[in-house]
Amino acid sequence: MKVLAIESTCDETAAAVVENCGAGVKILNNVVASSVLMHQKYGGIVPEVAAREQIKSIIPVITEALGEDKDSIDGIAVSFGPGLMGSLLVGVESAKALAWAWKKPLYAVNHMGAHILANWIVESMTAKVPEFPAVGLVVSGGHTDIVLMTSVKDWKWIGGTRDDAVGEAFDKAARLLGLPYPGGPEISKAVERVTDAMKERYGKKYKLPRPLLNEDNLDMSFSGLKAAVAKTVIELGEIDEETRDMLAWEFSEAIIEILVKKTMMAVEKNKPKCVLMAGGVAANKQLRENLRIEVEKIDGVKFFCPELKYCGDNAAMVGAVAIIAPQEVKPTELKPDPSVTTV
Ligand code: AMP
Ligand code: MG
Repeated sequence: MKVLAIESTCDETAAAVVENCGAGVKILNNVVASSVLMHQKYGGIVPEVAAREQIKSIIPVITEALGEDKDSIDGIAVSFGPGLMGSLLVGVESAKALAWAWKKPLYAVNHMGAHILANWIVESMTAKVPEFPAVGLVVSGGHTDIVLMTSVKDWKWIGGTRDDAVGEAFDKAARLLGLPYPGGPEISKAVERVTDAMKERYGKKYKLPRPLLNEDNLDMSFSGLKAAVAKTVIELGEIDEETRDMLAWEFSEAIIEILVKKTMMAVEKNKPKCVLMAGGVAANKQLRENLRIEVEKIDGVKFFCPELKYCGDNAAMVGAVAIIAPQEVKPTELKPDPSVTTV
């Protein structure tokens, strides 16, 4: 089965053509246009600007993803939420129009579920896909959730943030440190600038808290950590580049320690066969590395994380859901749902 998938939940306009491949999904074409640079001067996403850009990009992006392939498409998939209403409307209405005009089935996809099912994207017929039960860690600009999956369609929320999402915390801390939006990749760059000599010189000078780290539950909290960065920056007044990078490093260490510890607690309690990470923050190399090391210490548990290009918002993951866990809907019945509950 070959699916045209559309993603427009936030500031990315994306389309992909995907097909089944062994137990997973192969990507034939994957196109992403982002309006992220237009939001930079505001330090965050402006929904109205994102929606206008979606309208401009949707047809060129779909056209590019389709290439000459239109006639072999068997169905259309689209993310219907969660996301920004104005942005969602563009993708959902485009998908409905195509399904109706081409008389093809339409598949409704939950964007958060799509992030996790990006772990089913493969390159060969023999590639291994995740097995169940699985513990999933979804880390993005809007979510920080730990879920227990017993099949591709059966999910249970078992933990997550009580306040800010982890991507949001990265973005806000970066802003406090004078780094541009989006903050996650900028904090990663700052971390890479920190040398061993700098770590030795500063020692524990900028120690930040690890909220809820030692509580015996899967709750997380990042707003206090962000407030601690704000307090340090205010107390210091002017900060030079080295101090900024050291603070970014300590902030990143704190976040990664919390995410790894809570995910491993979920693993300890639920004895899964796999741990699946997903979402924009899963692009963080140190987080990928640290979580992989901890998971692989446990016999029989495998770690999965999508390739970097499938961590941020993309339509390939939306197509993966339509193939692995299809949910067909009538075009007349599908509506965007900005706040559909997580997976
Ligand atoms: P999403 O909501 O899934 O589109 O992911 C976007 C979020 O991922 C933003 O908050 C980014 O700051 C964050 N992000 C992207 N790359 C990284 C990274 N390398 N480290 C931490 N966060 C990141
Ligand atoms: Mg997302």
